[in-house]
Amino acid sequence: MFTPLAGKTVIVTGASKGIGRGLALRFGQAGLNVLVVSRHLAEAEKVAAEIGANASGFAADITRVADCDAMAATAVERYGSIDVLCANAGIFPAAKLGEMTEADFDHVIGTNLKGTFLSVSAVLPQMKAQKQGRIVLTSSITGPITGFPGWSHYGASKAGQLGFMRTAAIELAPWNITVNAVMPGNIHTEGMDGMGEAYIASTAACVPMKKLGSVFDIANAALFFASEEAGYITGQGLSIDGGQVLPESPMALDEMGTA
Ligand code: NAP
Repeated sequence: MFTPLAGKTVIVTGASKGIGRGLALRFGQAGLNVLVVSRHLAEAEKVAAEIGANASGFAADITRVADCDAMAATAVERYGSIDVLCANAGIFPAAKLGEMTEADFDHVIGTNLKGTFLSVSAVLPQMKAQKQGRIVLTSSITGPITGFPGWSHYGASKAGQLGFMRTAAIELAPWNITVNAVMPGNIHTEGMDGMGEAYIASTAACVPMKKLGSVFDIANAALFFASEEAGYITGQGLSIDGGQVLPESPMALDEMGTA
């Protein structure tokens, strides 16, 4: 039995759609106050309305220090604390080496890695004052474990988040602040729907579980990291991928057999 988190406060960045929306809905269901953050207020407010009275929207671009600081100040003003930060906002435009520009590289690293640093930095004064906090980064299997053509910058940003996490976890341990990461495999988001059924089926075929993950598979793991009971876990990344990184060759999938 887990200690209820009702009444605590979570900030979820990148919460207008996809995995962030799933995080916001799941934490909202668990009774936390949710600050739903994206660059577009109307989109953030739509998700907040789905959650109910314990949620509200806020517009912030996580690449901007002032926006991140305003995000943290607003959570405290509206709800009185920041118990959990889900630093989830991220982008994944593709560009192969040789075509990738310096601007492409800076955009991805600036959003995914520097944006993580800025979001975390913004909540620290409040979490340190509380002597308690939970930070959950959304990394990926891409970068820390796997690669995919077109995503060298993205993979670097997602592996970089884990490097950031390990030192942050040590530095913040004295304040009882944990820093962990969820590492999603292929998750069924609204964006994935646009890729078509054939793409979804071929992606699912590469996963031992033979299906894509849901946004709630990620949210449930994040909720665990946010729990009282996970208080002694810090600096850890958890793959949530239906076993996708396990087969050592396509033959391993062929040899699986059926139940
Ligand atoms: P998504 O559906 O494209 O949603 C991205 C979210 O981030 C949106 O809410 C977007 O809102 C927000 N966002 C983007 N740039 C932002 C910025 N500068 N400031 C504030 N918010 C920003 O993406 P997703 O697939 O759910 O991915 C979410 C996270 O999971 C990312 O970190 C991604 O790397 C990671 N991930 C996803 C998968 C997957 O299969 N989907 C797999 C592994 C890892 P606005 O546009 O309104 O700002």
